[in-house]
Amino acid sequence: MSKRELDILKMARPSIRSLKPYASAKDEFKDFDQELIYLDANENPYENGLNRYPDPHQLELKQRISQIKKVPVENMLLGNGSDEILDMIYRVFFEPAQENIIINTPTFGMFKVLAGINNVGCTEVLMTDDFQLDVASIKKAVNNDTKAIFICSPNNPTGNVIAETAILALLELDVLVVVDEAYIDFSDTSSWSLRLKDYNNLIVTQTFSKAYGLAGIRLGACFANTEIIELLKKVKMPYNVNVLTQRTALKYLENEKLREQEIFEIKENRNKLSKAILKIGFVKKVYASDSNFILVKVDDANKRYGQLIDKELVIRNRTNQPLCENCIRITVGTPEENKFLLKSMAYLDADKMID
Ligand SMILES: *Cc1c(COP(=O)(O)O)cnc(C)c1O
Repeated sequence: MSKRELDILKMARPSIRSLKPYASAKDEFKDFDQELIYLDANENPYENGLNRYPDPHQLELKQRISQIKKVPVENMLLGNGSDEILDMIYRVFFEPAQENIIINTPTFGMFKVLAGINNVGCTEVLMTDDFQLDVASIKKAVNNDTKAIFICSPNNPTGNVIAETAILALLELDVLVVVDEAYIDFSDTSSWSLRLKDYNNLIVTQTFSKAYGLAGIRLGACFANTEIIELLKKVKMPYNVNVLTQRTALKYLENEKLREQEIFEIKENRNKLSKAILKIGFVKKVYASDSNFILVKVDDANKRYGQLIDKELVIRNRTNQPLCENCIRITVGTPEENKFLLKSMAYLDADKMID
């Protein structure tokens, strides 16, 4: 029994609640372990390793992810990147041109873009100066048509983890709380996905694009109460995670030790890079990061961005984001890349003194 029992079914769009989902050939008959002759899906019968549709339930992959993430298979939904999962959340729960979400700016841009795509209202609440949630203002912004609050923790582009107390306060409201944990593997805090039992209004998304080094295969995961997962499954395209992705993910997820080593190194390099960047004259502030990137306040972000491009270094200019005036976001690279970045920044620093 969860501590928090929101009527999830009532929150879904009536059209989705009553929707009879498509049943694929692989749905109607799913005994994959048996050697049978499959003449049910109009596939080309000549085996080439890719002529069959993927498992629409991605069971083997989910079982492996379940072992790694310690979340039961029935609380999991996989998507073509976590972007697809976020989009599904809008399509299941939000009546277009009527209902709204709340986001906390500055944050991940896709929350607002997906709201726009789905014609869902998006109320932006400004974070506090230290990039935490302004819970009082969020509560004021909630109205009868607010169905969810989107939180990114660790937050992109600021890099920090969002305080547990703030998220707990929001979980007490009559809304869904979506926590995007794209960078959770770089932080020392544990995932909200381990607390699904306590909050049936909690939805956690993660991705294999960042810490897992698999951005190219497009794989994201959603962890939530089974009622939410079942609703999302209704709108999920039958074969949204393709054979190549499932196969490749299974192969790469065999070696957790290697991944842990990479994450350890990225965190070490992040800490080294943060310290070194602080010594650059035009750097005003380096924000603490629980992610694989750092937010840096400089004297003139537009100018420094252009200068670094000239040095063949591409970073992200975030100066137009609220609270991020003159900030750039830098992804932690390899030690060689980080060294090149520092050298280039030091060179620009010296340059400034000459002119
Ligand atoms: C990169 C990123 C994602 C994108 O994840 P995909 O699984 O690649 O779609 C989602 N959320 C945040 C906050 C990100 O920074």
